[in-house]
Amino acid sequence: MKRHVSCPVCQAEEAETHDIVHHLICAYVGPDYDFEDGEGYRCPKCLRALHDHDAYAEIVGVGARCTLCGTEFVMPDGIVQDM
Ligand SMILES: [Zn+2]
Ligand SMILES: [Zn+2]
Repeated sequence: MKRHVSCPVCQAEEAETHDIVHHLICAYVGPDYDFEDGEGYRCPKCLRALHDHDAYAEIVGVGARCTLCGTEFVMPDGIVQDM
């Protein structure tokens, strides 16, 4: 789902949203693209593979990254309203 989010730094509505994943085994918290390793998902900290609906990984929020200036920020309560 594509959502338009305004960047708090440059005000551009070019931010891409992503899930923020918490790996329960090693307590790593990061955006879902940090876990992608080409073929599947792997934790960048402990290097364990993650599976779909992995019991040891949970989504704790929604983050966004501005494609123009690279700023990363967390969406408040994960809800984005359509303009
Ligand atoms: Zn991990
Ligand atoms: Zn920006």
